[in-house]
Amino acid sequence: MKRLTLMASVLAAAALGQGAQPDSGEAVKTQDSVLVLYAPGIPGDLAARMVAWVERWYGISVEQREEAGLSEGLPADFLTRRIRGDVAKKRLVLLIVDSPPAEGEPDKSIQRLTATVSALNLATLRDARQQSDLQRQLFNERAEREALRAVAGLLALPECPFPRCPLSGHRDLAELDAKGRGLCPPCSICAAERVKTLGLSAQAREAERSDVSPGSP
Ligand SMILES: [Zn+2]
Repeated sequence: MKRLTLMASVLAAAALGQGAQPDSGEAVKTQDSVLVLYAPGIPGDLAARMVAWVERWYGISVEQREEAGLSEGLPADFLTRRIRGDVAKKRLVLLIVDSPPAEGEPDKSIQRLTATVSALNLATLRDARQQSDLQRQLFNERAEREALRAVAGLLALPECPFPRCPLSGHRDLAELDAKGRGLCPPCSICAAERVKTLGLSAQAREAERSDVSPGSP
């Protein structure tokens, strides 16, 4: 029951997000790519790990870049000012930020901002400011799992009922750490179908490219 309650509150919070639309799955039908923007201060190799994990498990190509505007304020403000163009191009956009939640603010890691934009806050995945090597490794794995879950939300995949799957809900970092690192088989199948429906498949994109330039290797 607790997990359902958590999910309900996440959905309610998402509905409050700017320009949020019901999670019908229809809103993202014409997306042609996924864009990851990360705040300055987040190590490029961590962002690259997260992107690589998403590409590996969803079989999609992801564009990534550091975005200075993410250090300036809340993703919602940033969104309206800086990435309107990317949203207008109907991309799926994941913003990665690292800012401690303000007093009274929910400390959930993933916030759905609009039908096509989510924000993942790495600060909510950290136990302590100073990290040992072991904590850093745990943190990196949390970031990878939550990147998968954030993208699942953008793809309108349902929450997984298996606690070991990264696409399941969790109540605390211990439950997040207990999850496996890759999608469970039913989620893999579901994700592959969704990616195909949306035309996000890396293989499909390769085929498009070779149609355009038949001489390329
Ligand atoms: Zn699953």
